[in-house]
Amino acid sequence: MLGAQSLPSLDSARLISNITTLAADSMEGRRIGTPGGARARAFLLREFTRIGLAPVRDSFPSPFVAKARAAELNGVNVVGMIRGTKHADRYLVVSAHYDHLGIRNDVIYNGADDNASGTAAVLVLAQWFKAHPPQNSIIFALFDGEESGELGAKAFLENPPVPLERIVADVNLDMVSRNERGELYASGASPFPVMKPLLDSVAAIAPVKLLLGHDTGSGQSNWIQQSDQGPFYSKKIPFVYFGVEDHPDYHKPGDKVGHIEPGFYYRCVRTIAEFVRRLDLGLDRVAAIR
Ligand SMILES: [Zn+2]
Repeated sequence: MLGAQSLPSLDSARLISNITTLAADSMEGRRIGTPGGARARAFLLREFTRIGLAPVRDSFPSPFVAKARAAELNGVNVVGMIRGTKHADRYLVVSAHYDHLGIRNDVIYNGADDNASGTAAVLVLAQWFKAHPPQNSIIFALFDGEESGELGAKAFLENPPVPLERIVADVNLDMVSRNERGELYASGASPFPVMKPLLDSVAAIAPVKLLLGHDTGSGQSNWIQQSDQGPFYSKKIPFVYFGVEDHPDYHKPGDKVGHIEPGFYYRCVRTIAEFVRRLDLGLDRVAAIR
């Protein structure tokens, strides 16, 4: 824990109020194309405006239409940015999906950990970077439709708001608020070894157990294609994914805000903030492999 006090100080009260808002019953599980999803999005748009993010295109909402199985789904990503002080034309993406499973058999799936936690964290990270401007431009992308097959991330990359070759890396957050062992995983250093020294340096001072892995082999323990980092990987864009091991409430109605661990959650988000800060400062090395 040595040095943990030098990690970015984030707005912890806002982090908890954000996740509480997003995981509330009134959001009805935030399924893509539903009124609950739209209510969650309205909250995100208010936050982007309050924080003072700039649109990348003409406005924050980025609608898309996607085919999922037989149906057409109408999704809306929420995308904003902070311009870099030194390399305004180089972009980091910090992403999380805000959709979840909605209502099934009259039961609301609140999706507090999955992924109100990552969404609330991205808002707080945006607020911190607004006050501490990065050298490279950072795009904050809150994706819709992840639960239906990473639809929002795929739409973002098929119709990117900036040229794809200008996106140097993606940092994706999906489930970062609870783990019995106090462990947070960072995946991505196996396919992109350039990330390893950065992750090792953060792990050495992290106030959580930051473990590298879940990014090799075939099967379920390789997480590369299991959240929105997958479509970035498929476009050969370096990524780091932060998340926890599955828990008994994963994709269950029990994934409620009362089951998150606020202290662990805050320590995870500070760890991720420090990683994004160092990635921004060291982005030349990542850009060199793009
Ligand atoms: Zn998720």
